[in-house]
Amino acid sequence: MSDVSVSTATATIATGSLQSSPYTGRFAPSPTGSLHLGSLVAALGSFADARSRGGRWLVRMEDLDRGRLVAGSAASILRTLELFGFSWEGTVEYQSARTQHYAQALETLRALGTTFECSCSRRELESETFYPGTCRAGPRRTGPTAVRFRVPEERVRVEDRLQGIHEYTLSECGDVIIRRRDGAFAYQLAVVVDDALQGVTDVVRGADLLPSTPWQIALQRALKVPTPRYAHLPLVTELEGEKLAKSRRSVAIHPQAAGRELFGALTLLNQQPPAELESEPPAVILGWACANWRPERLAGVREVPAAAYGTSV
Ligand code: GLU
Repeated sequence: MSDVSVSTATATIATGSLQSSPYTGRFAPSPTGSLHLGSLVAALGSFADARSRGGRWLVRMEDLDRGRLVAGSAASILRTLELFGFSWEGTVEYQSARTQHYAQALETLRALGTTFECSCSRRELESETFYPGTCRAGPRRTGPTAVRFRVPEERVRVEDRLQGIHEYTLSECGDVIIRRRDGAFAYQLAVVVDDALQGVTDVVRGADLLPSTPWQIALQRALKVPTPRYAHLPLVTELEGEKLAKSRRSVAIHPQAAGRELFGALTLLNQQPPAELESEPPAVILGWACANWRPERLAGVREVPAAAYGTSV
């Protein structure tokens, strides 16, 4: 996948402007376990960014991938967020209860002729760096198929508030799965539909999702919905550079030490909180975070080692 920072394309999809809409942000955890350090950083960064601009902050449970769900973790994540002093607008939306919206979007894309059925297995595509268009003219085999979105021959320009400008050639990203072979709607489609329906103007999330952004922008364009502003926070890594969010060894956080955990997360976000803040209750620390939020301190930072956390890990 190409990821370059200079625009050379003639056909470029620029991120749309939502300057006039009131700020709406969100935190969209997958309930695949307890809230861990990586997701606390995403929650804190998106919350502080929203509240510092007088914006709304929504919580959405991304529970479409049934194979990865852990029973009870959605409730545990929400309880932890509350213990840490986070509050959100409205009720928590669960993607598993919103499939009619994804079905409708898929029908729209199908009617536009931008989808195709794909019979390729993961194993068959193992050696490819991106999907090579194998089933564009029709599935190679009978049996269950996934649905892919046929990416247009365009380049996408992501103007990230923190990570700068990144340009992607969509054909090198490949046709993305929007409904899986098991019938489940895929994250890339659901996130676009939900961000649009929930009026999200600002997506603040981990930098592991930066490479997903060109697909999401391409889907937004096809569905004729606005493109939010993006800010990708540094990914918290372990010493070996392994992604925490995807790791079984994710650094756990301790709700009984919420203040220290929040202080540590603020440190990872390079907000340089004053030392005396560490012993304050969570609400005071969150208040400080919103009043003193300086996202520019994260400009260009893609990764931050968990070791920089320096509190309970
Ligand atoms: N559910 C995704 C995750 O937990 C986040 C998706 C997003 O913020 O767009 O990694």
